[in-house]
Amino acid sequence: MQAYGQDPTPSRHALVRLEKAPQRVEATRSLSVAEWEARTRDARALRPEELRVLDAASVRAVAGLTRTLSELNAYLAGTGALGPQTHRALTRWFGIGLDRAWMRRQNRGLLRQLVHELAGIRRALQRFSEDNFRIDPTPGPALGGIYTRAYVNPFDRAEQVYVAPGAVQLKNLDTGVIINLSQMLIHEVSHFESTAGALDLGYGIRACERLAEQATGVFGRARALRNAESLSYFVSDLNWNEFHPSRH
Ligand SMILES: [Zn+2]
Repeated sequence: MQAYGQDPTPSRHALVRLEKAPQRVEATRSLSVAEWEARTRDARALRPEELRVLDAASVRAVAGLTRTLSELNAYLAGTGALGPQTHRALTRWFGIGLDRAWMRRQNRGLLRQLVHELAGIRRALQRFSEDNFRIDPTPGPALGGIYTRAYVNPFDRAEQVYVAPGAVQLKNLDTGVIINLSQMLIHEVSHFESTAGALDLGYGIRACERLAEQATGVFGRARALRNAESLSYFVSDLNWNEFHPSRH
């Protein structure tokens, strides 16, 4: 969707993980247990207004995921067709084309994988309570100076999402322009092993489009399907009005 080009701050956050966890991807920064504890030491519980903002963003994310999943599931079941916008989004974010019969046959497995991942993310968001969120008042500097708006440890059994205080402000929820909170939640939650186990293979619109363009064969396309940012852009693209309430 064209409006993505107006987003001044594509996702800039770092994913941290425990050093003992299996190696997964070079792009993520590895922290020792002591570093992780130091990193999260200042984190606090949500304040009531922060909870309201995150809750509203989560409700929108679940609604968007539900709509998109219904469409994809109906297509896979042979009871419904995909709209042109969904066709375009599948190609743009995952390199999945469905124009020809052989493409539809070849890409069925990838669509199933996508449905599986999105359903996992939705289940988690439906199950999460305020205990799954922590506010980290000192995000950023500990992770190489990259501005961090949110981060998770994918192997965290408590499945906690750490969020910068600046991210959970009502103004972000109102416009979804500077930080699209529903999109951010989908990105972060997709990292957990229990949802999609997604990686950070590319941040931002251009990197995600490149991942999809570089897709050659089923293996290449599967890479975009494993990228947290690509999953969140795909859902946001198809639920633009819901995620950007005062922008239309
Ligand atoms: Zn990430």
